Amino acid sequence: MDYLGEILALGVDSILFGICCRLYLKQNNAIKGVQNAEVMDMKPGLEDIVYSQSQHKLPYVAIRGSVKAIGTPITSVNNQNITGTIQKLSLKEHIVARGSAGYWADQERVIQQVYNSVPFVLQNSQTSVEVLDALRSDILDLETIADHFEPSNPSAFDHIWGFFCVRQRGVQRTEEMLREGTYVTGIGELSSSGDGLKLQVPSNGSPFYLTALPISSLVRKLDDQRRIYRLLTIIFGGVGLVIFGIMARHWWRERIRRMQEDLSKRQLEASRKERRKRVRDKNVPDSQRCVVCNVNPREIILLPCGHVCICEDCSEGITNECPVCRAKIEKKLLHTFHNIKPYSN
Ligand SMILES: [Zn+2]
Ligand SMILES: [Zn+2]
Repeated sequence: MDYLGEILALGVDSILFGICCRLYLKQNNAIKGVQNAEVMDMKPGLEDIVYSQSQHKLPYVAIRGSVKAIGTPITSVNNQNITGTIQKLSLKEHIVARGSAGYWADQERVIQQVYNSVPFVLQNSQTSVEVLDALRSDILDLETIADHFEPSNPSAFDHIWGFFCVRQRGVQRTEEMLREGTYVTGIGELSSSGDGLKLQVPSNGSPFYLTALPISSLVRKLDDQRRIYRLLTIIFGGVGLVIFGIMARHWWRERIRRMQEDLSKRQLEASRKERRKRVRDKNVPDSQRCVVCNVNPREIILLPCGHVCICEDCSEGITNECPVCRAKIEKKLLHTFHNIKPYSN
């Protein structure tokens, strides 16, 4: 669990890096798609061109035309003279709340958001193309028709409550619409099933756009987003490398410390061995010699069997069984003529 903090940080960073990388690549493909999308002229022969294609469709094209409802358009709730084909009504609450850091900050909360839409076409004087599933488009430019902010009148209780926790500042009502007559660029799949042209969400997964911007401005807008994703990808990638570097340094230092510990342990062992060699009695009778090396005197008592059969040097390599009776060794004691003390390496 030495690296738990680093592993967690690396995990979170990798997820963010992956998300940004994916967004960047997606945006890159989207830009390439828009740049390569063929701009089709809205003219009477267009339907025949599309019908003659395989599966009666062009996978990714751009068309430009003005918005017109097929049936009755939606009338703005704020201005009876404005009609459109998509309407977005939002109700937001503005509050002042104490943030986690302890200071008061303005926040907004969406209370309600409603979309209304009616079937519509993009048309010019010569022909028209019906737009399907407009609400599923990746970019849908709507015009703000009305934006009202109503400040709230707090009661005495609200004042007291607000002093400690949350104060409501008011509610904001917004109406946005895709107005009739707006000149729109639609980029998507153009198909013809014999009953008119239809622009829809591409079945090959490419993004679907309905924007008031010309194509060059749309590309610039997408490119700005791509730049942000690229920057975030680089930042998270860099942070990941730094965390990895910290982990590698941590591991390397730990390794060096262990190697030094091992070395000093071996040096200590060697000097102990040397010391034992110097003080040992050279004239050991055969019956008192270690059964393993047959040179040094018997110095270790093995427990629980109680055999005194090996020297201290050989005992380092013998940890499981007594070489005489094969009993399991549970403990070793250093045996001298004068005293018996616990033995440890
Ligand atoms: Zn020995
Ligand atoms: Zn034994």
